[in-house]
Amino acid sequence: MKKTSLLTPGPTPVPPRVLLAMAAPIIHHRTPQFRAILKEMYENLQYVFQTSNPVFPLACSGTGAMEATVANLLSPGDKAICVQGGKFAERWSEICKVYGINTVLIDVEWGDIVSPGVIAKTLEENEDAKVVFTTLCETSTGVVTDIAAIAQVLKGKDTVLVTDAISALGGMELQTDKWGIDVVVAGSQKGLMTPPGLGLCSVSEKAWKLVEDSNSPRYYFDFRIARKAYDKSNTPYTSAITLCIGLNEALRMIREETLEKVLQRHEQLAVAVRAAMQALGLKLFAKYPANVVTAVCVPEGIDGVELVKVMRDAYGVSIAGGQAQLEGKIFRIGQLGFMNEFDIITGISCLEIVLKKMGYKFEAGKGVGAAEEIFKEVCVE
Ligand SMILES: *Cc1c(COP(=O)(O)O)cnc(C)c1O
Repeated sequence: MKKTSLLTPGPTPVPPRVLLAMAAPIIHHRTPQFRAILKEMYENLQYVFQTSNPVFPLACSGTGAMEATVANLLSPGDKAICVQGGKFAERWSEICKVYGINTVLIDVEWGDIVSPGVIAKTLEENEDAKVVFTTLCETSTGVVTDIAAIAQVLKGKDTVLVTDAISALGGMELQTDKWGIDVVVAGSQKGLMTPPGLGLCSVSEKAWKLVEDSNSPRYYFDFRIARKAYDKSNTPYTSAITLCIGLNEALRMIREETLEKVLQRHEQLAVAVRAAMQALGLKLFAKYPANVVTAVCVPEGIDGVELVKVMRDAYGVSIAGGQAQLEGKIFRIGQLGFMNEFDIITGISCLEIVLKKMGYKFEAGKGVGAAEEIFKEVCVE
């Protein structure tokens, strides 16, 4: 028999309640019945994004929503500032290049974050930059950037702030309106507990001016068409009906638990994972670790690729390895979405078993014990 556990930073486990909602017979999308679901989904998205801006659902993974953002905000030859510091952050500049955008790159060492001061200085030197592209949680390195402080730098300026919150939304604090983020990009398959396939973009009035000015080619992913449909509780073209029904059910679960408690739960799980890794003598890779994913340095003498493979193939526990230059050097434990204490205990226990088999020296049970100590302290409902 094989039971599996998914502890990757996306896709994440989908709750039975969401799966059941998606198992219902398909309904037509141009009906009052489906429109009511979309209307509720739009309101629930605003709750989770903490915004009064529209949030457009796009039938694509997160990267599609990133591309849509670039195409809708910028025209060829426009200038944009891209913060680099991980595999996902680099995607912003890659997309910009495809659209002929003049990019100013801020290079950040992987595992570290950009300081608001560097953003301010780069803006001073590039007053004509129309957009600053950032990442809240860089999933490839497990680091969290202080987006609130960056938003403060941009306050009162014409430059639009875009944040990739694909892995962070629904797991970490993100106050779209209060902080002043113009465009927030998210995806269905991470903190939002839904299968992959929906990209999400919230767009502010300030960003909307750029949308109207952009002459980049776009057809399916045109925000102007998305907004017209959105205003009528609709979507352009055929909706991703099943995914929307699933996402709405997942958003209902977040509302019932309350966003505040959801974020507290993620924090507690993250604290436990970090404590466990330290108890095992392992080093965290991120300077400022995020609450949705923990990146851990593979210890000397251990094959990091093999570690992830054995956990998955021999024990059915999926964690993520390192990407690009971090391949084999780190492993990443996702602690986001539909997860509780015992999912985490399973992951740590399996990690201990496989590390032991591979010859890493530590006292068995130390990691699990450290996590238990955290779970004992804070009793969440
Ligand atoms: C997962 C992820 C993406 C890519 O999303 P896809 O759904 O795989 O296209 C982009 N940015 C971040 C921060 C992510 O975690």
